[in-house]
Amino acid sequence: MEYEKKKEGIRRFAISNGATTEPPACRRPRPLAHITFLLSLFLRSVGCPASTDVGWSRRSSPINPVPELPDIVVYLEALEQRILHQPLEQVRIASPFLLRTAHPPLSSAEGKTVRGLRRLGKRICIGLDDDLWLVLHLMIAGRLHWKKPGAKVSPPRGLAAFDFSNGALLWTEAGSRKRASLYLVAGEAGLNALDPGGLEVLETDLPHFAQVLTSSNHTLKRALTDPRLFSGIGNAYSDEILFEAKLSPLALTQKLKPEQIEQLFNAVRHNLVEWTDRLRQQSGNTFPEKVTAFREGMAVHGRYKEPCPCCNAKIQRIRYASNETNYCPTCQTGGRLLADRSLSRLLREDWPRTPEELELLTREPK
Ligand SMILES: [Zn+2]
Repeated sequence: MEYEKKKEGIRRFAISNGATTEPPACRRPRPLAHITFLLSLFLRSVGCPASTDVGWSRRSSPINPVPELPDIVVYLEALEQRILHQPLEQVRIASPFLLRTAHPPLSSAEGKTVRGLRRLGKRICIGLDDDLWLVLHLMIAGRLHWKKPGAKVSPPRGLAAFDFSNGALLWTEAGSRKRASLYLVAGEAGLNALDPGGLEVLETDLPHFAQVLTSSNHTLKRALTDPRLFSGIGNAYSDEILFEAKLSPLALTQKLKPEQIEQLFNAVRHNLVEWTDRLRQQSGNTFPEKVTAFREGMAVHGRYKEPCPCCNAKIQRIRYASNETNYCPTCQTGGRLLADRSLSRLLREDWPRTPEELELLTREPK
């Protein structure tokens, strides 16, 4: 009975992870078949070529470059140079799902002059006359472009255009899942209602940072990327921050020593400032078309299986949902491989604990 339950669990896990064949069918426990299947699950989860192939369809890396604080800051600076003090002539909306507010009506923004620009978490806010604010949430695949006046908005990729006399701010979103959103709100109260409330790490001190970090007991990866705790940090920069701080993505916030919290605080600030500078230099005077592309020069993020720039060990990953976390086992986890929670529960003591054990398991038989 216990065995049947376990087998069903594995079957569900396999299907939810894209297996194209069922686990080995057997009427009673057959340890070898089972271990072989579990090993193939593990090998797939860490991306190794599985010698015990059970028919996985290999998918490409699921990393999505979500605009985070540095990207948004660079967008805002580019917009400031182009639209500050300019009248917004017209807003053209191509996607019916984009606008999420009805009052005030969008037409009330037209003809008003841009008075200020600011960031709200990962959102871009364009302030107009009468304290009206256009709030753009790009989400994962939303991007901005600066085009000639009257540039065409081509759905389904094109979402909207904001027309100024000197050019058009074009908003696109790749993919079929439209998640980007636009809001028109009035005053500080309207902006506050959209603010997830995360701490601005570049505007705070260590004690306040520590207080927010340890306010609940989460893994570091989750705490750093929670917009209600910290503002503007997402999957990419959190990987880089944790690498620089030499901390495991799965370390628990309330178990950290004071010196580790300080290391983390310094790494957060250093990474956000340095990456903003880098992106600023990359785009120069042109509109930042590439700020959200793969960021060359990152130490661990998006570098699965590549050598760590510090110690040369292979960068590892934990995959979950449609995302992944990258880390260096030597620099960050004392040489331990981090198991996906669901998979490690199934594998229990069979899980290889070190890169060396992994090597042994994946070595071709002579
Ligand atoms: Zn390393």
